[in-house]
Amino acid sequence: MQVYKFGGASVRSAEGIKNIYRIVSEVKDQLFIVISAMGKTTNALEGVLDNFMKADHQASLDKLAEVETFHKDIITELFERPEIGLAAIEPSFEELRNYVTTGIGDDYDRWYDRLVSYGEIISTLIVSAYLSESGIENVWLDLRSLIVTDSNFREANVRMEESQARLQESADFTKNRIYIGQGFIGANIKGDPTTLGREGSDYSAAVVGNLLNAESVTIWKDVQGVLNADPRLFNDAVHIPELTYLDAVELAYSGAQIIHPKTIKPLENKQIPLYVRPFGSPKEAGSVIKQTIDQPINVPVLIVRKNQVLITVRPRDFSFVLEESLSKAFLVMNKHRLKVAMIQSSAISISVCVDNSRYLAGAIDELGNDFKVTYNDGLELLTIRGITDEIVHKTTEGRVILLTQRTRRSGRFLMKEI
Ligand code: ASP
Ligand code: MG
Repeated sequence: MQVYKFGGASVRSAEGIKNIYRIVSEVKDQLFIVISAMGKTTNALEGVLDNFMKADHQASLDKLAEVETFHKDIITELFERPEIGLAAIEPSFEELRNYVTTGIGDDYDRWYDRLVSYGEIISTLIVSAYLSESGIENVWLDLRSLIVTDSNFREANVRMEESQARLQESADFTKNRIYIGQGFIGANIKGDPTTLGREGSDYSAAVVGNLLNAESVTIWKDVQGVLNADPRLFNDAVHIPELTYLDAVELAYSGAQIIHPKTIKPLENKQIPLYVRPFGSPKEAGSVIKQTIDQPINVPVLIVRKNQVLITVRPRDFSFVLEESLSKAFLVMNKHRLKVAMIQSSAISISVCVDNSRYLAGAIDELGNDFKVTYNDGLELLTIRGITDEIVHKTTEGRVILLTQRTRRSGRFLMKEI
């Protein structure tokens, strides 16, 4: 069997969903389809949540009504008999309305997962009903009861063993050929919904592929495949047809938006190849990520990670012991879920570059107990693999650089955003 994953951009319009129909109708094999929330629905549901947390029920309901209209418009355009699609999503919106009018917004992370996970529930209900209406029989699964995670709300980790038994039992390919489930979501052992981190649907697809021993996992994207640089930032980006798992992990951690960093491990564990293919031209091969490749990457790779913050800490008492300070500082950063992209230490200080996030303030606050803390925000981290002086010149000329790290093959430049 194979796993196909369609992201938010693929399902943001009726036309996109019709394209999913075309792609899926070509597949004769057993198929598990993983789908994200439609378009910008996750952001919109975050808006619903924020108003709910402020106990502004009316604003929350208003935002929710916008989300509902967006989905209803797509259904009306898409279905031959829209009443089928509308009936499929009605209970979910009813549940959401109920939550935001009667719930008490105590724990942000927990409420986030409870509410925002509906984006994927609703998108999969629509696609499943549409494929059925169009003659592609399929079974919709609620992965909130099949993918078991820990209780690390908003960034939950999948418990593979518990999930395997449940998923294998429900996705029985001797009974049905096509199953549809949600990216991004699961639930802890008590059944409280969880989410796996923003853009986590790729990770879900990899987890499903691992648990069901898929022959391959394919992520359908609105790009040609994996490129050596973001074409919106560098105009001479080229396509990379083959990458190793290791290449992909490096790219993802450096901030390449193409695949979620957690995606590779479940696939590598079972040696399942990952295809990244263009949603708009399904006949093209795209890129493949696997254990060994025939044509190693022979172009420089450039990755920009935006919205970075450089934090520098100095112990308050001058008794700087690097090991001690490092472990203290990292304990705090890990607790506050900071994603560290770069580390530098000196005789009296430690500097780390982290993603800007809503957790930052809490971390800086707590670091302040033991350290004198300073920070710069509005930065971007450029990673260059296959570095040459010419590329460095071209990409960093005239830029304000706060930190550089260079090895023989690669370089990293933390710069002010422009
Ligand atoms: N819908 C989620 C998000 O926008 C997950 C995903 O798209 O992968 O972050
Ligand atoms: Mg998405």
